[in-house]
Amino acid sequence: MQENIIIADKCPTTQIASWQQQLSQAIRDPAILCQQLALSDEWLPGARTGHQLFDICVPAAYLSRITPGDPHDPLLRQVLPLDDEALTPPNYVTDPLEEADHQPVKGLIHKYAGRVLLIASPNCAINCRYCFRRHFPYSENSPSRAQWQEALDYLRADTSIHEAILSGGDPLAANDRQLAWLVEQLEGISHLKRLRIHTRLPVVIPDRVDDALIGWLASTRLQKVVVLHINHANEIDQAVVDACARLKQAGVTLLNQSVLLRGINDGVTTLATLSERLFEAGILPYYLHVLDPVQGAAHFDVPDEEARKLVASLRDLLPGFLMPRLVREIPGKGSKTPL
Ligand SMILES: *Cc1c(COP(=O)(O)O)cnc(C)c1O
Ligand code: SF4
Repeated sequence: MQENIIIADKCPTTQIASWQQQLSQAIRDPAILCQQLALSDEWLPGARTGHQLFDICVPAAYLSRITPGDPHDPLLRQVLPLDDEALTPPNYVTDPLEEADHQPVKGLIHKYAGRVLLIASPNCAINCRYCFRRHFPYSENSPSRAQWQEALDYLRADTSIHEAILSGGDPLAANDRQLAWLVEQLEGISHLKRLRIHTRLPVVIPDRVDDALIGWLASTRLQKVVVLHINHANEIDQAVVDACARLKQAGVTLLNQSVLLRGINDGVTTLATLSERLFEAGILPYYLHVLDPVQGAAHFDVPDEEARKLVASLRDLLPGFLMPRLVREIPGKGSKTPL
């Protein structure tokens, strides 16, 4: 954020974007979160405990989709820390994906054939309590422009790479000048065909999809895929639908990945409604991930057997093209692993 503001200041004709203002005003205090959502005091100690392990962050645009006074609201559950986060069951670790082992240069993860993941921003616009990156050493993985050159050289040198995936954190938490620069560099690498962006920002703060973003996105020669992260139909309000329509007009293919989460979307009807609602917004379901075993998130786990049964029942309800692929990420494998 700080950096975004400084860069915006250098350009006197640009105001600080609305989304940046909204992000800087996000709720980052357990007491305020509970108070704004009319939750009883019993939730506060847990929220404080979890907040110390991984900061609360909830922007108003997301908060507005949560029903006040309902401690079981499926959106609230994604952002409200519970006492359970302090549990440390065996097998739940701080780097479940062992990504530290696959970084040939800083800010770049090359695990799968033909595609490379670039950590374009260490920040997120929301802190999801189940996040597999809640212990990730972000500060070491936020390259400066000079450091980007090393990552770009890596991409230039390997002609088998056809797709650059901007990831994070959330890549769209970077400002548009930085992103436009990076995409311009990527465009110049002739063997790159596709630009993929893994982001939750258009869902969390739909105003992120503004003219500046559409500007660089619409003008690139690369084919564009945006993979959103939506876990529940209630996350898709009219503002999200409008943001998706703008992305589609800019020539973007829209996909969605979800995480299967206890108490949030672990029901057949909930998952079917999510797929239907995604399609209404022009988004195709892509992956349904089982939870990565990250410390602090064990209470969200749905056992494999139950996950398989859920997806089998879902198949009885939905057309094939609305079925997400149920997968797990296993360290060392060359792709996601179907369950
Ligand atoms: C998930 C992931 C990808 C993308 O995988 P797809 O199956 O193409 O969606 C690429 N690189 C890394 C490191 C990943 O974790
Ligand atoms: S938006 Fe994604 S990376 Fe950021 S906290 Fe949520 S799950 Fe983690």
